[in-house]
Amino acid sequence: MAPTPRYRAWLQRIRQKAEREKTDNRRFFRWLKKARPVGMTKFFRLAHQEAFADIDCLQCANCCRTALAVFEKPDIHRIAHHLGMSEEAFIKKYLRPHPDYEYLICQLPCPFLTPDNRCSIYAIRPTGCRTYPPARLRLTDEQLDVLHDNVHICPAVNRIVDRVKQHLAFRMKS
Ligand code: SF4
Ligand code: SF4
Repeated sequence: MAPTPRYRAWLQRIRQKAEREKTDNRRFFRWLKKARPVGMTKFFRLAHQEAFADIDCLQCANCCRTALAVFEKPDIHRIAHHLGMSEEAFIKKYLRPHPDYEYLICQLPCPFLTPDNRCSIYAIRPTGCRTYPPARLRLTDEQLDVLHDNVHICPAVNRIVDRVKQHLAFRMKS
């Protein structure tokens, strides 16, 4: 249940880079939310495709180790049923309520992460995990916040944000 050495080094680099770029990223995401530049969704989608062309999540799994997964009612219904548990028992065993979400996983690393960095409930995993990182979606302010919050956690998000910045930087200055 650990990143491979290559990914461990990469994760350390993006943490340091995100720290260095904190002010710049804050400014960039504030501008994206306000200006909603034309083509923004398309740039994020293309950058997502490019980033995952050579990223292997099975060597990383940093999101499952460091970010609390969100579980909503339909996720709970589906996963509890799959595990042969009542929803109440599932909630009691695995989740805790959160004021901003329905529920969050109760611990890190996620208890569904296996020692070989796989998700033991992959086919029926929560929607939030299925859509992570949300750079392929039509981007709401909330999803932009998720991307901003994850530049130091996810190598793919870090790369996506760099790419979109390259595309849009000149517009931000104008
Ligand atoms: S989505 Fe990002 S943080 Fe999660 S395993 Fe893949 S590269 Fe790592
Ligand atoms: S449910 Fe699966 S994909 Fe989601 S955080 Fe847990 S191990 Fe990762």
